[in-house]
Amino acid sequence: MKWGIDLGGTKIEGVILDEEGKVVDRRRIATEREGGYAHIVSRIALLVEQMREATGLNPAHLGIGTPGAIDPPTGLLKNSNTVVLNGHPLDKDLERAIGVPVTLANDANCFAVAETLLGCVPKEAPDAKVVFGVILGTGTGGGIVVDGKILGGGQGIGGEWGHMFLDNSAGYCYCGRVGCVEQILAGPAQERYYANLSGTARTMKDIVPRYRAGNDPAATATLDRFFHFFAKGIANVINVLDPDVVVLGGGLGNIDELYTQAVPRVVDHLFNPRLDTRFLRPSLGDSAGVFGAALL
Ligand SMILES: [Zn+2]
Repeated sequence: MKWGIDLGGTKIEGVILDEEGKVVDRRRIATEREGGYAHIVSRIALLVEQMREATGLNPAHLGIGTPGAIDPPTGLLKNSNTVVLNGHPLDKDLERAIGVPVTLANDANCFAVAETLLGCVPKEAPDAKVVFGVILGTGTGGGIVVDGKILGGGQGIGGEWGHMFLDNSAGYCYCGRVGCVEQILAGPAQERYYANLSGTARTMKDIVPRYRAGNDPAATATLDRFFHFFAKGIANVINVLDPDVVVLGGGLGNIDELYTQAVPRVVDHLFNPRLDTRFLRPSLGDSAGVFGAALL
C-alpha cells in the first residue's frame, strides 16, 4: 500500500493506494494554517491517525506533496505559499510526529509523476520517457519526470519554469525579479492585464467566454497575449528539456484554445522546424496531487 498526503493551504488530503493504484481510503481535513507550524504538523498526524483507524492499516512510508520544496543543503522547506511552513524541516518533523519515513516533494512534481504513472501518459503516450507537467492556474508550477522518476534537482527547483524570464511587460514578481513567466501566464496576472485594458475587474472564468463571444476587445487582447506568451514560454522549456510529452494541468490548462491557438505557435520559437512534443490533457483531475504524493 502507498500512503500519500497532499498538504494545501486550506485542506490536507490523504489517500491510500493499493498495488494497482486503486483507492483504498481517501479523506481530508482542514489545514487550519492560522494555528501555525506545529499545529499544521499535528493536523497531518491526526489525518494519518484517522486513516489508520478507518482501515486498520499502518503506513511503512508516507509521501507528502506541497507547494515549495525542501532546500537540499539545509533540509528546510522554502518557497511555500503557506509561509509559516518555510524555514522548517517539515519532512523530519513529520517523521518524528508520525513515526514513519517521509518523502516530501513539490505539488507540481506530484502532479507530473501521477499523470506519468497513473494518468494520461500511460494511456496516450506509453513510450514517453521525459514528461513535463505544468500547472497553469493561480501560479505556473512545473515538474519534470524522467523514466518515471521526479527530477527534483540539486537545489530543489527542477521544473520551476514560472520564474524564467519571459518578457519585460510582466513587471515585478514576488520572487524579486522582473519579467517572470508567472507574471504573464498565471490567472491573477491575466486578470490584472484585462482590468488595466478594460477598466473592469473580471476573473478568467468571465474573461474566457467573452473572448469566445468575440465582442470584448480587452478579452480578445488578454487571451491572444496568453496564447502568444504561453507558446514562447513553453518553447523555452522544450528547447532545454525536449520532453516527449507536456501535460497541461491547472484551472487555465483546460482552456481548449491553448491546444488550437497556442500549441501551433510553439514551433515559431523552437530550435526545430517542427514540433513533435505531444501536449496532453491530464486525466486524474483533482486527484493528481494526492496520488502523486502516494507514488513518492
Ligand atoms: Zn518570479
